[in-house]
Amino acid sequence: MAGRVLITGVAGFLGSHLADRFLADGHEVVGVDNFLTGSRRNLAHLRREPRFELIEHDISAPLFVEPRVDGVLHFASPASPADYAELPIQTLKAGGLGTHNTLGLARRHRARYLLASTSEVYGDPQVHPQPEEYRGNVDPVGPRSAYDEAKRYAEAMTMAYHRAHALDTRIVRIFNAYGSRMRPRDGRVVSNFIVRGLRGEAMTIYGTGSQTRSFCHVDDLVEGIVRLFHSRRAGPVNVGNPEECTILELAALIMEETGSSVPPVFGPPPPDDPAVRRPDISAVRRETGWAPTIGLREGVRRTIPYFRALV
Ligand code: UDP
Repeated sequence: MAGRVLITGVAGFLGSHLADRFLADGHEVVGVDNFLTGSRRNLAHLRREPRFELIEHDISAPLFVEPRVDGVLHFASPASPADYAELPIQTLKAGGLGTHNTLGLARRHRARYLLASTSEVYGDPQVHPQPEEYRGNVDPVGPRSAYDEAKRYAEAMTMAYHRAHALDTRIVRIFNAYGSRMRPRDGRVVSNFIVRGLRGEAMTIYGTGSQTRSFCHVDDLVEGIVRLFHSRRAGPVNVGNPEECTILELAALIMEETGSSVPPVFGPPPPDDPAVRRPDISAVRRETGWAPTIGLREGVRRTIPYFRALV
């Protein structure tokens, strides 16, 4: 299906990489962003691309696009815990109203719809690793609730459009991802550690550092999302790298790769920080044949030059 796809959050880390990929695959891309957390720099290389159009718009307000749209990918949302703590209402509006508006747009055009969801729907998981059937352990009023509940609502709304209007939907539950085009002050762990390492400053480990995450390089992630978009599965599918490590192990690896010998310091644990996280990726494998190919060390090596140019 080569056609015209609309991507919200197009100036963000994932949105901008997806735009590049859809353009490379021969599509036209309509990008939407209000630059709340996105960056113009991530789109600078598309300025003279005739198949790319940018609409500056807050997706929590309705959007009408003509003449046609064949696919809608809703990626607009603050996504770093630091951002959604600071922007909780905008986060709920992007996931709530933004999802409703983009579903309405997709329905009007009979377009395929893909929702960017998150491993945060599992909260602080009591099942490990997390399969799609796991219903999660989320505090509906806690400090992470603006993001977690927005995405849970967004999934419910997407399934409602699928059931009530037979909309052709996909839901991708994205686990921790990293790579170029993250903001140096994004607040997430890989960007924080690389920036500190390159500056010869101490990395800060929140809590004991025994908490785990499973990090997927953006090139792998984009491939997984695109394959899912072209697949036939309407319900949620995990996409991430099941290679799990502790935050202490991550700090040691990034110290080695950035050549830093400054020992890390410890800070207070963020409230409700999930203790473990690792995707069960059997569903995406079965549906699309996708599996990640870039290990953590290799991915960090590919990412360091991007940050080196910025710090
Ligand atoms: N973290 C840390 N130091 C940092 C940033 C994050 O120790 O400078 C920890 C954080 O407490 C969490 C993990 O790294 O346990 C991943 O945090 P991140 O903000 O990247 O994303 P999350 O997976 O929590 O959404």
